[in-house]
Amino acid sequence: MAELRIDGDRLWRSLMELATIGGTPKGGVCRLALTDLDREGRDRFVSWCAEAGCRVTVDAVGNIFARRPGRNPDRAAVCMGSHLDTQPTGGRFDGIYGVMAGLEVIRSFNDQGIETDAPLDLIVWTNEEGARFSPPMLGSGAAMGVFTLDHVLDIRDTDGLRLGDELERIGYKGSVPVTGHAMAAYFEAHIEQGPVLEAEGCDLGVVTGAQGQRWYEATVTGRESHAGPTPMWMRRDALAGAAVMIEAVEAIALEVGGDACSTVGRILAQPDSRNVIPGRVWFTIDLRNPDAEQLTRMDAMLRVRLAAIAEKRGLTLDLVDFWAFPTTPFAPDLVARVRDSAERRGLRHRDIVSGAGHDAVYVARKVPTAMIFIPCEGGLSHNEAENVQPSHAAAGCAVLADAVLATAR
Ligand SMILES: [Zn+2]
Repeated sequence: MAELRIDGDRLWRSLMELATIGGTPKGGVCRLALTDLDREGRDRFVSWCAEAGCRVTVDAVGNIFARRPGRNPDRAAVCMGSHLDTQPTGGRFDGIYGVMAGLEVIRSFNDQGIETDAPLDLIVWTNEEGARFSPPMLGSGAAMGVFTLDHVLDIRDTDGLRLGDELERIGYKGSVPVTGHAMAAYFEAHIEQGPVLEAEGCDLGVVTGAQGQRWYEATVTGRESHAGPTPMWMRRDALAGAAVMIEAVEAIALEVGGDACSTVGRILAQPDSRNVIPGRVWFTIDLRNPDAEQLTRMDAMLRVRLAAIAEKRGLTLDLVDFWAFPTTPFAPDLVARVRDSAERRGLRHRDIVSGAGHDAVYVARKVPTAMIFIPCEGGLSHNEAENVQPSHAAAGCAVLADAVLATAR
């Protein structure tokens, strides 16, 4: 098999050109979903796809599908994709890299006269970031039946603007049904958004799946009283109790080890006065683990330990399940194709689990899926300073091309 080539310079130029749409003075990008800038980015993408000979369709939630035909029109498409929307102070690569890498795969196949048996679809998913319309990953979620179309179209931004109206306004409310798109496989290339690949000197991450997540809200209730006259032994200090609980949350992931993570990210103490013993504290808990059994174990540890701390200190604990996301293993045969390509091309690589949510995580519920990570500088993402090495961008794109060709040939 002749070595498949991609044009890393052309990929980089496309990335830099797209970054000018909504480009910020600090070198990042602000292209919120379904704004005029999002339309401009989408239009540029669509014109590039048309130039590459693709037929472009749009579904009822604004997901864009650019099709490169295969020899056999009856086969379901082998798909690539990601998102073009960004955070308000986002970077040039989060999401956009996966779309531009897919475009470069199609351009390279065209240049080299490579035909595939199955058609290829390059997909742009609507509102992945969730920055303007919450929750995130609405386009891929709707396509995979996680959300109903009506529910998604009725979501409003903070100005009260309706997602469905904004879709129509920018001209991306398509006519293709949102569910039932025939996908044989889905590959998403993405920046890691974490520090592991760079720290280990890797060129590429072979993503084996996504972590399961469990989110909670804890409310600890004690008794408000004066910080002076109340002796220590008579106190029911909700904040001191919560502090011990937060330490216990951190200890859970440290004890379980592996890829386990446990985080308290928000805390509110009442009455929030310097000379009042806090009577009520609310905080959030985020537990993650790629191993479903270990995540269940972490959940049990959390419940038992926090309850014990509350009891010992005469506090009441109300622990509410806020949101959960199951662990999502990717398709082993597709993951193996990514790994084989990295191996054949002599790239330094490692298996890695995605700690963040991606469109691929919803797609994986219905379609065999794999992801490719490339390192990002300092692990920094959702930040205007987000950066990657051009050589890593090209390497991830080449591996994407190999994996897609092996699946669609
Ligand atoms: Zn992303």
